[in-house]
Amino acid sequence: MGARPAIETWSSRISHGRRRALAGEIPGARRESLTVTLRLYNTLSRSVEEFRPVRPGKVGLYTCGPTVYDRVHIGNLRTFVWEDVMCRVFRALSFETTQIMNLTDIDDKTIRGAVAAELPLREFTEKHIATFFEDLGTLGVVPAALYPRATDHIPEMVALVKKLAARGHTYETDGSVWFRIATFPAYGRLSKIDLSAVQRGARVADDEYEKEDVRDFAVWKAAKEGEPESAAWTTELGRGRPGWHLECSAMSMKYLGETFDIHTGAVDNIFPHHENEIAQSEGATGKTFVNFWLHAEHLLVDGEKMSKSKGNFYTLPDLLEKGFSPCAIRYLLVSVPYRMKLNFTLDGLRGATSAVERLESLDLRLREREGRKKKEEEKISLKVNTPEATGGGFAERVSAARRAAFDALEDDLNTAGALGALFSFVRATNVDLEAGHLSALDATAARGLLSEIGGDVLGILPRTAVVELTGVSKGVSHAVGTLTSATAAAPDPSSPSKKSSSDSPDVGEAWILERIEARKQARKARDFVAADAIRDELLGVGIVLEDTPQGVRWKRKP
Ligand SMILES: [Zn+2]
Repeated sequence: MGARPAIETWSSRISHGRRRALAGEIPGARRESLTVTLRLYNTLSRSVEEFRPVRPGKVGLYTCGPTVYDRVHIGNLRTFVWEDVMCRVFRALSFETTQIMNLTDIDDKTIRGAVAAELPLREFTEKHIATFFEDLGTLGVVPAALYPRATDHIPEMVALVKKLAARGHTYETDGSVWFRIATFPAYGRLSKIDLSAVQRGARVADDEYEKEDVRDFAVWKAAKEGEPESAAWTTELGRGRPGWHLECSAMSMKYLGETFDIHTGAVDNIFPHHENEIAQSEGATGKTFVNFWLHAEHLLVDGEKMSKSKGNFYTLPDLLEKGFSPCAIRYLLVSVPYRMKLNFTLDGLRGATSAVERLESLDLRLREREGRKKKEEEKISLKVNTPEATGGGFAERVSAARRAAFDALEDDLNTAGALGALFSFVRATNVDLEAGHLSALDATAARGLLSEIGGDVLGILPRTAVVELTGVSKGVSHAVGTLTSATAAAPDPSSPSKKSSSDSPDVGEAWILERIEARKQARKARDFVAADAIRDELLGVGIVLEDTPQGVRWKRKP
């Protein structure tokens, strides 16, 4: 692999800055010297392991992104929101975090879709990329450092195929190139698949992995008669297109290096997609590809696999249309730890709605309490009358709740445990507030905790910011978790009756400024492919960039 482009992790810097502000300025929310012992379940070893990064203090993650041929559904969004929480936890633990998420914009599904829509491939996928970003924005997902598209990385993929060929891992038939798994004895280590039990079948030139033969797989597919011109490239390998698995190997190593920390996806990516990525990457470099493989379980709807024919298939706009808020939807998605199946029901969403309201209502009451500055009230000592308080004042309770939440999160990202800790705190604090035992300072400390765990880390509370961002452009404030600013037309999370964001595809200024900044960083790193990809990404959602001597200007396409 060539020199790796530097990726500025500016969004993580913002999070850190805000954390410091929170920790430094709010009594009771002081930063403890965290002894981080983050443990993660590694699919590779089938066990929970202590996380040790390749480079101290830094973490690089590659999270398999969507195939952009349709709107993502709520099951896909579960995985993306879980990955977002994981990145937020890393940032909260002060890791410099670089997340790369690919966009699969070339495969059988995208080609079929483009043909059906009678559009060039790129034009077809643009639309779906735009709605994907819209959904992420609505759910308050902090943008990844980069969203590379497969079609922008054909040269890297060709180079990888050539490297595999040079090391004797491939063979060619009819212009297609195949990976011969007999040359990679470690094949099957991730999925633990028993290859002898898998039927040897005819190879199929098909990206849909459930249909792909497991013995050998295509790394390069020759252009076929009848396929659109826009879906093939003329390269040293001949005219054709990359195999799906190859896309992720090439792009992850380009941006994160030949060996990186974490690779994630849903459980159905384990085989063959991730197994094949390992074979290609390690086959080409001879080095360990990824140290930690993490996989999210499926989401069921009403106890059943989601399917359009059963009528239990939901996209985000479907749920917003029913009047649910983005916060409640996100709450339900994070309420079940990622390694458990999540049973998504409308009843569950109603429960999530009231849970979010409970947090918001406490935040509001605490805010009111902060506002009352009568002298006698300020004299209230920081006494606490609930049994949970074993000694000391309110600050200790805040600190204990914070510790409990982080203990859960550091234990393989146990989001349910973190919510449990948060709600114990909410209960006890409501009691004290009712009894008039909280000072204005206590209220500030309590809001700091709600903001940190509910807002910054879990992203289920949009409006708990205690401290204004300092030294950071307001335009990027949604990077630390304000759901409402992510898309200009996103519904107000506190009023479920508002209409869906799907009424207007407009993206918010915050998102735009963020992408402009990412493009600037890519250009600085002389990665013009990435820079152009970001410009196209913005164009895809109707934002036109203009480079001027004063900097980049943007406008919405009329
Ligand atoms: Zn992938």
